[in-house]
Amino acid sequence: MEKLVMIKYGELTTKKDNLKVFVDKLYNNVNNKLKDYDVVITKNKVRMFIDIKDYDENEIISKLNEVFGIHSIVVCYKTEKSLDKIIYDSVNLLKKGKFNTFKVETNRADKTFPYNSMEISKLVGAGILKNIPDIKVDVHNPEITLHIEIRLEYSYIYTKEIKGLGGYPTGIQGKGLLMLSGGIDSPVAGFLANKRGIDIDCIYFDSPPHTSIEAKNKVITLAKKLTKYGSNINLYVVPFTELQEEIYKNIDSTYMITIMRRMMYRIATLVAKKTKSKVIINGESIGQVASQTLTSMYVINNVTNMPIIRPVSCLDKLEIIEIAKKIDTYETSIIPFEDCCTIFVPKHPVINPNLDKCIEYESLIDYDNMIDKAINNIEKIEVKKYKIVENKLL
Ligand code: ATP
Ligand code: MG
Repeated sequence: MEKLVMIKYGELTTKKDNLKVFVDKLYNNVNNKLKDYDVVITKNKVRMFIDIKDYDENEIISKLNEVFGIHSIVVCYKTEKSLDKIIYDSVNLLKKGKFNTFKVETNRADKTFPYNSMEISKLVGAGILKNIPDIKVDVHNPEITLHIEIRLEYSYIYTKEIKGLGGYPTGIQGKGLLMLSGGIDSPVAGFLANKRGIDIDCIYFDSPPHTSIEAKNKVITLAKKLTKYGSNINLYVVPFTELQEEIYKNIDSTYMITIMRRMMYRIATLVAKKTKSKVIINGESIGQVASQTLTSMYVINNVTNMPIIRPVSCLDKLEIIEIAKKIDTYETSIIPFEDCCTIFVPKHPVINPNLDKCIEYESLIDYDNMIDKAINNIEKIEVKKYKIVENKLL
């Protein structure tokens, strides 16, 4: 019996017209993920198969669990399209495990196979009962379920199915620009954008000497951790000190954060357009802080005509933290370094900012020139050049 890892596509199958594009993208992403392994990957419209040779199946599965667009991962055995052979191989497979109750479930994709799904399940079940002593069928609550898939060329049997990450293959939707701070929310936002098929680049607003090199390294580390789920990431580091100091000196303290965020959006929009990102993604969550009330979002959003995606906008902080832990960004995010928002925090930021007032305040500073200068001095970091060892950036 040949052991294979089978991938089920899940949600992809609802994309009838684009199926080929989706499957090809997933195939490329899986190939890329397993590039260090000498495995053979084949695909068809509904399944992908990986001949994992002598590699440890758990190692391959954990790699595949970093790829979006996979509904489930199955360790299966390829067998022939003969009932006798299916029974023979099923008995051999089940003999390897210890159980008292079982059931058989069949999926017959090849409708020319002479028995229907119910008949196959019954006949194989009977064959198993005959060959393995002291076991019973329990259709409601079995300890083990034997799955049989009758496909065009072969049949497959399996008992173990692992949930995949779901979503769409990263990159299928093109690219977005993630506003990545050192906090907990924005890496999670990036991960969730990847899940919907968006590849990401990142932008970080850096305010030295008010923010440290460690804060910047933390952002590089987070970006690097996100590359696990997408392709290579370019991180654009924007020198933000001058703009921020001008805002601090000239603008009413209650409006400082609102104006600062409008500047961030303006710059992110220009960088996104220049680098061919179709959307801006950030970690804003409704109501989390004064600049994330619906009124604030409206007033801040007003400077851009780019779509802004806020994947964590409707999540509670605890839900965001749960994801951050799962994707291994949490421990890095909570390392306490100042970021550019925390150092200039006013005591009473406005909760319901007024758009006209923003425009009036902004006329007090020469922001167009400062934005130009910031854009011209962006540092582009190719995150793949960095290594993380024991949570340290090398
Ligand atoms: P996070 O939201 O990532 O936990 P935070 O809570 O410190 O960090 P907020 O002040 O809530 O950040 O800002 C909301 C969002 O704005 C962030 O999630 C991030 O997308 C973006 N942002 C904030 N500061 C920066 C920065 N210095 N560089 C890039 N993006 C930033
Ligand atoms: Mg936040």
